[in-house]
This record gives sequence, C-alpha cells and structure tokens, in this order.
Amino acid sequence: MGRRHLLSGCLPWFRGSSNTNTMSKPKTQQLPLHKVIMVGSGGVGKSALTLQFMYDEFVEDYEPTKADSYRKKVLLDGEEVQIDILDTAGQEDYAAIRDNYFRSGEGFLCVFSITEQESFQATSEFREQILRVKNVDKNDRIPFLLVGNKSDLDERRQVSQEEAQSKAADWNVAYVETSAKTRANVDKVFFDLMREIRDRKAQDGQKQNKNKGKKKSKSSKKKCVIL
Ligand code: GDP
Ligand code: MG
Repeated sequence: MGRRHLLSGCLPWFRGSSNTNTMSKPKTQQLPLHKVIMVGSGGVGKSALTLQFMYDEFVEDYEPTKADSYRKKVLLDGEEVQIDILDTAGQEDYAAIRDNYFRSGEGFLCVFSITEQESFQATSEFREQILRVKNVDKNDRIPFLLVGNKSDLDERRQVSQEEAQSKAADWNVAYVETSAKTRANVDKVFFDLMREIRDRKAQDGQKQNKNKGKKKSKSSKKKCVIL
C-alpha cells in the first residue's frame, strides 16, 4: 500500500524543494508532480476523501489529529503524473505550520460537510488564509475547489446547494458535492483540481517565457547603442 506517515518537515515538497527532476532520482520522480492540500474543519471528511481516492476504501475511524501525506501515480488526460496529497488535521491552528502547508500547496480542496453549517462558514476563513499566504489578489484564480462532502447524508443536510453554489460563484471557483462513503465525485474533485494545477503551471510557464523574451530584446537593443 505504501502509506507514508509524515510529520511536517519530512516531506520533500514541504521543505520547499522544487527540484524533483534530478537524474539520480527514480523515474517516477521525474513525472510532473501536482501538490494538493486538503483543508477544512475537523470531521468534514478530509481523511475519508483522501483514503477513498488513494485506496478505494471508506475509512470511518481515521485518527482525527493525524496529518499525513500520500503520493500516487495517475493518468491525467493521457499523461502520467504524480499527485501528492497533504491531508491536514488541525495543525493549521498554529499559524507558522499552517502558512508552511499553504505555501507549499499548488491546489486546494476546501472541504465542508453538508450536514454542518459551521463547517461551511469556516471555509471562508480557510480561503482567506490561503489567499493571504499565496499573496494573491481576490480576483486572481488559484487552483481551488469548494467541496461539500457527505452528500449521502442528504436527509441531514444543513447547507443548501444554492448557498454553496453562491459562495463558489463569489470566489469564482467550482462547487462539487462528494461522498467519501459512496465514492460519488471523489475522483472528479481530485482530477478537476489537478487539471487546474496543470493549466496554471502552463500559464505561468508561458508568462515566464514572455518575460525572458522581453528582457532579451531590451539587452540586445542596448548592445546596438553601445556599438
Ligand atoms: P477529517 O477530520 O476532515 O479528516 O474527517 P474524517 O475523514 O476523519 O471523517 C470524520 C467522520 O465523518 C468519520 O466518522 C467518517 O467516517 C465520516 N465521514 C467522512 N466522509 C463521509 C461521507 O462522505 N459520508 C458519511 N456518511 N460519513 C463520512
Ligand atoms: Mg483527518
């Protein structure tokens, strides 16, 4: 199964290492790596969603205070990639740890339980913290999905689809309802987020290339003047 237990600092991408392409590393490490972070209040199903995605099983009694990270090779639209999932578990109460988590993530699944209004309210704070740490403007898009989990418990619903949709629209993000129990939409949220991360990286790459091009032409202009 290869579950990895972590504590902060043990994860390569946590330590801020972006160099995953060195020759000496095993081949899988050369694949594109998409770093996903699960955020949300305790008890909403972050671990259950992660474990369902990773191992196709519904784990009902996962240790609530345990943060863990997982890595898996998947086929994303025909391309082999790796997904790295950090399942957070309350350490976010410590600002420094939380900021490190958020800084190192490339995409976020912001989870609440449709059976708990409070957990829905809490998503706003998680989003604000992420935007602040990532230093992005409210209008700037980061790979992010609002996830309403426990859709199998519709009879206990406290958060309507409309209010969740409306919050997602305000944030300009997608809203998806999942069930870690029945597996409904579990693959969807992880794959949709990976697509957002992949597209974002491609855009950033294009921007960087453009900037390089601009710099080059400026310096060549200077050269002409000197000559
Ligand atoms: P976390 O604190 O966000 O990681 O939440 P957990 O994954 O530990 O889940 C908390 C509780 O909710 C556990 O008892 C899970 O079995 C239960 N749970 C999680 N997801 C679902 C779901 O989609 N449907 C139902 N019915 N229960 C769920
Ligand atoms: Mg958990």
